Amino acid sequence: MAKVFAIANQKGGVGKTTSCVNLAASLVATQRRVLLIDLDPQGNATTGSGVDKLNLEHSVYDVLVGNCDLAQAMQSSEHGGYQLLPANRDLTAAEVTLLDLPNKEQRLRQALAPIRDNYDFILIDCPPALSMLTINALVAADGVIIPMQCEYYALEGLSDLVNSIQRIGQLLNPSLRIEGILRTMYDARIGLTNEVTAQLQAHFGETLYETTIPRNVRLAEAPSHGMPALVYDKASRGARAYLELARELVTRQRRVKRAVTA
Ligand code: ADP
Ligand code: MG
Repeated sequence: MAKVFAIANQKGGVGKTTSCVNLAASLVATQRRVLLIDLDPQGNATTGSGVDKLNLEHSVYDVLVGNCDLAQAMQSSEHGGYQLLPANRDLTAAEVTLLDLPNKEQRLRQALAPIRDNYDFILIDCPPALSMLTINALVAADGVIIPMQCEYYALEGLSDLVNSIQRIGQLLNPSLRIEGILRTMYDARIGLTNEVTAQLQAHFGETLYETTIPRNVRLAEAPSHGMPALVYDKASRGARAYLELARELVTRQRRVKRAVTA
């Protein structure tokens, strides 16, 4: 059964979407079956997957409100080898529409239940807010991956986020855990980066991914071509970093499985 990971941080511009698209393609490159769910009305993961967000017959919004089945809204990413549940501005309405629907926090979880066996990993790209959409992602997920930049204020935001995740977990999804903290746009030459890293290690231990994602222009260019960096420029540092992250993530899963079955 697929592991479902929400890629979340209430801060915008920290690399959530970049991480979703590139991790999805990298997991495919390691022979995993992957579904990427775009849960942000900005639809950046949709565009970055080579799908035209302005011409969607059905989107994740229709799935959440019950207008169509997940299979009807699903598309293949153009180059990444993963499946995509696309989004566009229609999803803005979900914040209000969901309030009137039964099981408003569980809609995504329920929609995923019948197809979880078809994938190894399901990644959810969250909007930059702790909204009803993000709550749906956290209720559907087994774990949260938190991308962050190593800045001073990022640590403050991180403790708010971790508290919120814990609260939502206690109320609605007791098995939810923090899967990993990912340092993005990483530059070890900056002193503050190392200070923040030391604090993250002290607070989060092994939850902090060893892999870091460097600032790399290929990662910023690839979405305008509707491609993951792995296809746009396979040799780039950015593409290689996300491949390394996929390997680390898969190794961790194996370790967890062994610990459970031992
Ligand atoms: P979020 O989804 O958290 O808002 P994005 O993934 O959209 O963040 O990233 C914000 C901006 O930074 C985008 O323009 C993206 O192309 C760029 N970006 C993200 N990660 C990197 C990186 N490692 N190196 C260079 N640019 C990056
Ligand atoms: Mg985004």
